Amino acid sequence: MTSAEIFGSHVLDLQTFKKRLPKPTFHALRDAIKKGIQLDGPHADTIAQAIMEWAVAKGVTHYTHWFQPMTGHSAQKHDAFLSFDANMQPIDRFSGNQLIQSEPDASSFPSGGTRTTFEARGYTAWDPSSPVFITKTGAVSVLCIPSVFFSYTGHALDTKTPLLRSVKKLNEAAGAALELLTGKKLSVSATLGCEQEYFLVDRKWHDMRPDLIMAGRTVLGASPAKGQQMEDHYFGAIKSRVLAFMEDLETQLYELGVPCKTRHNEVAPHQYEMAPIFGDANLAADNNQLVMEVARKVALEHDLAILLHEKPFAGVNGSGKHLNWSMSAGDGRNLLEPGHTPQNNLTFLYFLVAVVNAIHKRGDLLRATIASAGNDHRLGANEAPPAIMSVFLGSQLTNILDTIEKVDTFNEETVASIDLGLSELPNIMVDRTDRNRTSPFAFTGNKFEFRACGSSHSVSFPVSALNAAVAESLLEMNAKLEDIGQVTEKALFELLRPFISASKNVRFEGNNYSDEWAAEAAKRGLSNLKTTPEALALWQTDEAQQFVTSTGFLSGLELGAVINVRLEQYAKHLDIEASTMLRMIDNFVLPAAVSFQGETAASLSALSEALGERAAKAVTVQADRLANLAETIANLIEARNSLEAELEAVHEMPEDDHALAMAQRVVPRMDTARGFADTLETIVDASTWELPTYNELLFLM
Ligand code: ADP
Ligand code: MG
Repeated sequence: MTSAEIFGSHVLDLQTFKKRLPKPTFHALRDAIKKGIQLDGPHADTIAQAIMEWAVAKGVTHYTHWFQPMTGHSAQKHDAFLSFDANMQPIDRFSGNQLIQSEPDASSFPSGGTRTTFEARGYTAWDPSSPVFITKTGAVSVLCIPSVFFSYTGHALDTKTPLLRSVKKLNEAAGAALELLTGKKLSVSATLGCEQEYFLVDRKWHDMRPDLIMAGRTVLGASPAKGQQMEDHYFGAIKSRVLAFMEDLETQLYELGVPCKTRHNEVAPHQYEMAPIFGDANLAADNNQLVMEVARKVALEHDLAILLHEKPFAGVNGSGKHLNWSMSAGDGRNLLEPGHTPQNNLTFLYFLVAVVNAIHKRGDLLRATIASAGNDHRLGANEAPPAIMSVFLGSQLTNILDTIEKVDTFNEETVASIDLGLSELPNIMVDRTDRNRTSPFAFTGNKFEFRACGSSHSVSFPVSALNAAVAESLLEMNAKLEDIGQVTEKALFELLRPFISASKNVRFEGNNYSDEWAAEAAKRGLSNLKTTPEALALWQTDEAQQFVTSTGFLSGLELGAVINVRLEQYAKHLDIEASTMLRMIDNFVLPAAVSFQGETAASLSALSEALGERAAKAVTVQADRLANLAETIANLIEARNSLEAELEAVHEMPEDDHALAMAQRVVPRMDTARGFADTLETIVDASTWELPTYNELLFLM
């Protein structure tokens, strides 16, 4: 079968529904998808029956509401179609009610305090805007019904509900802007393409490392002699085992309607990337969850382990997830695409300035949406965008905005020069030379690319915040637009001028990795919050409350829950990492080092005894090495004791203080202990070193 034939074969799309449903039911379904109108009982029953027949024909026996709790993963609980009729005869049954709502036990999902355990009821409800699909695990196929997840009291307990709300808000604000600018009433959706980076390692090495099993990253490990400095991996020929994995992954994703487009080797050894063709933000977010879920499964089938962690290995690049984002009007027009007519370009400029203004106002919050224990290793570590938010526009656009800001009066000449600059943009952007790979938020010709997101993250929170921030910014600008009446170029430039001027501080064209930028950003008053607890504190302010409630993507209570869950996850991750590190030091590193120390000492005494004075030089030189070994072992023991003591001290603290204490007290001690352990790895007898090293993990497959 060709890719096109495979594509979507496990997805029940509208076309397939049309063939299987009576007309009135199909129309009701379409209204539910497009307008969010609730389905009534009889229609829901008919749709459920059609879904079940489609699924059963593909060998499915069970269904599940597939949802995205605040863990950042997807969750499912299977129910059988099997039922019994009035005569106690077995039948397959799937009702409208079962399709529309389900009640998984919510008590074990994070709620951030919005739901106490004794009121553990949580509900999942079908989100018809995302199509149902069938997943295959080995020989088992399961019908998945994309759903939202909320508590008994109606609060969102998932990452998808806020995303759907933010999409709606953006549609309102951008639709209103478009109508004011062009007179046309069109819907607007957020578009999203998530580039996904990951590492693959041979399963047999992975399974011998407690840290990879427990924490998804190596908490110990000396750098190999060769890292990524030769730059020979990027875009290199793909190893056959990896290619077989990619091919299988893509086939399974095609079946699920995920439009995988590109695949290549990334910069670090054994690091790879895949990117889909962009789509509707809601669907693209679901798709990215499926990418991660299916990739884990397919890796296992290939005796590989996929590492989605942001920083699996010290000393080589970590992994991110670039979020390519734009807005698309109902007629298919990309609102961030500069065009060839002045009218189109005015619209483009308006939306562009709205985005820059949004990042100026809410960039810190946006940066905080992607804060996590894993991402703290990347942001600001000279390999990924720093923890400072800035926007890159390219020199041409920068010139245009600068001109608008500085021109005294907009006469025919100045307007014409701005028009000319805008109309040249598409050509300039096509040759892609004017790109800045170090920017956390870069304009790349017809979309923005938010590059700071972590590779393991659910994209929903950052995309929700971005949608909401742009919606807020558009509403602010729309209020001015309503007053100008006839939209002439002059009037629009006048309108944009104060917004361009006010948001100028967040624009930066230079090297974001440089120390000069950190200094300059501090002067500009841009924040540089390097750890998760510091970054998340921004979401615990009145201003953040006001932002989420006015844009409606979270309630105040829900925001509190989201942040609690994130802080808790951060503390738990670090707890697991630190505990794993202690175990590995005690069970692997120290035994190997101490036994090597014993052997070396014994051999040295034997040498001295056998040769006496004649071995004086050899004994001195070798004794130095032994002393160095013994001292490193002693340092490691002290460091692990200190780490253990701090970890215990954190456990004694009230839970609310864990995250910050982990960042301030545990992380630095882990770094110190690691330093000594990694030194030992480089001097101890390799044949006694049981942990697979970076050589195996990064180069052998
Ligand atoms: P690169 O960032 O390496 O230059 P591409 O330009 O091919 O790569 O785009 C990367 C991603 O951006 C792809 O997933 C692509 O589908 C997505 N993309 C392209 N146009 C848009 C858009 N208008 N909205 C959202 N994503 C887009
Ligand atoms: Mg990219």
